[in-house]
Amino acid sequence: MAIATTDPTTGQVVEQFDELTAQELEDRLARASAAFVQYRRTSLEQRAGWMRAAADLLEAEAQATAEMMTLEMGKTVKAAKAEVGKCAAACRFYAEHAASMLADEPVDAGAVKAAQAYVRWQPLGPVLAVMPWNFPLWQAMRFAAPALMAGNVGLLKHASNVPRTALYMEDLFRRAGFPADVFQTLLIGSGMVEQVLRDDRVVAATLTGSTPAGRSVASIAGDALKPTVLELGGSDPFVVMPSADLERAAEVAATARCQNNGQSCIAAKRFIVHEQVADEFEQLFAKAMAALVVGDPRDDQTDVGPLATEQGRVDVEELVEDAVDHGAVVLVGGQRADGPGWFYPPTLLTGITKDMRMYSEEVFGPVAQLHRVPDLDAAIALANDSEFGLGSNAWTDDPAEQERFADELQAGMVFINGMTASYPELPFGGIKTSGYGRELSDLGMRAFCSAKTVWVGTGDGGRPTTAHAE
Ligand code: NAP
Repeated sequence: MAIATTDPTTGQVVEQFDELTAQELEDRLARASAAFVQYRRTSLEQRAGWMRAAADLLEAEAQATAEMMTLEMGKTVKAAKAEVGKCAAACRFYAEHAASMLADEPVDAGAVKAAQAYVRWQPLGPVLAVMPWNFPLWQAMRFAAPALMAGNVGLLKHASNVPRTALYMEDLFRRAGFPADVFQTLLIGSGMVEQVLRDDRVVAATLTGSTPAGRSVASIAGDALKPTVLELGGSDPFVVMPSADLERAAEVAATARCQNNGQSCIAAKRFIVHEQVADEFEQLFAKAMAALVVGDPRDDQTDVGPLATEQGRVDVEELVEDAVDHGAVVLVGGQRADGPGWFYPPTLLTGITKDMRMYSEEVFGPVAQLHRVPDLDAAIALANDSEFGLGSNAWTDDPAEQERFADELQAGMVFINGMTASYPELPFGGIKTSGYGRELSDLGMRAFCSAKTVWVGTGDGGRPTTAHAE
């Protein structure tokens, strides 16, 4: 895929970028490696100061940055501005909490025959981050803020359709005061990821993107014995039980499915409704989906802008056509409007069966599928009948049902009576083919740290027993 900024609202190419040459890539890897040697010795206070400066810049430049993101991938400017604010908040969160998250953890010295023993969290080195376009600033920032605070060096290979946002990230950290080359953007296509990943100077990788891309990076990293964090696809269930506030659930359902023009990994995608309330919920949900305003993402009134790429719209259309060919019923949307731009309307389908592709595949656009189930057991079974396990939603006021969902939904995250979202305070990630490892919270910070055991003897050598002398 060519590296270019293309406006999804018009389909016009705005700017094309050259991929790094082999020599330029070599220079950047050498600089990253050299930067780490110095950077890991900087204090947490220094890093926190730079991170807060990055937050200040993000806030000061929010409007222009948001417009750049809208130009590159079509999200509404209001959503893009919110994303910039969220990035600034994450920078401040890690600036404030890194010291406690990375503090030495004492161990019972007597139990290990030491005068002193503790775990020290240390940075690994240059980490490759392969990132997607859908939240072009947030996805990269939720890696970068904790990784840089921990003393790592970042190498961003961003999606090929968001090069301006990718270059903005590099510039942002430089202007915030981080030492040169601590965070670099590599303008390379996915075909060059393997070379970077196998390079000895790159010590770990994180990929947020599709499951096939994750499989590829995981297998190369496995062969090269490098740790990875993978945040991959999802087809989150959204279960509605009879005790739920149906009006609220339907309103949130439409937002949860269509936010970011329907292109969110944690969007609710499969709506599973108890048959007792299914007719009423269907009506409310259809009304909420039909009420969403599709249009120019720069207009404040717009809820849903264009899809980010032409191919992305083709993929969505094919999944809807396949479902309809197999008997699904379209309640809302289902046909693209004529005209420029890669728009696709909010769409609601019922009558979904297992032989339809969308039963098991992720739909990366504003298309919701509604299922009816007879009881709680059937709801949980259907929710779990997926290769994915990223987020999940359940709507019920019954505490016993809430407990069942919390315990039994096969997902990295369960949100009850609310929409799945990411917060710096909460671990973010999935199970099954949605990936492994966690971003955000203290787990995200430690993902690219080594837990180094430090043992200080009493002067007699510790005298480990045979059982301990491994
Ligand atoms: P994608 O095609 O997998 O692209 C994501 C990134 O991976 C891009 O930088 C892409 O580079 C690169 N890439 C693609 N194939 C690769 C390969 N074989 N080896 C190495 N790198 C490769 O994903 P997308 O279609 O842009 O994004 C949508 C997907 O991401 C959805 O499945 C969505 O659910 C998932 N996602 C997951 C999360 C999460 O946190 N779990 C968050 C957001 C999105 P190029 O652009 O150069 O091809």
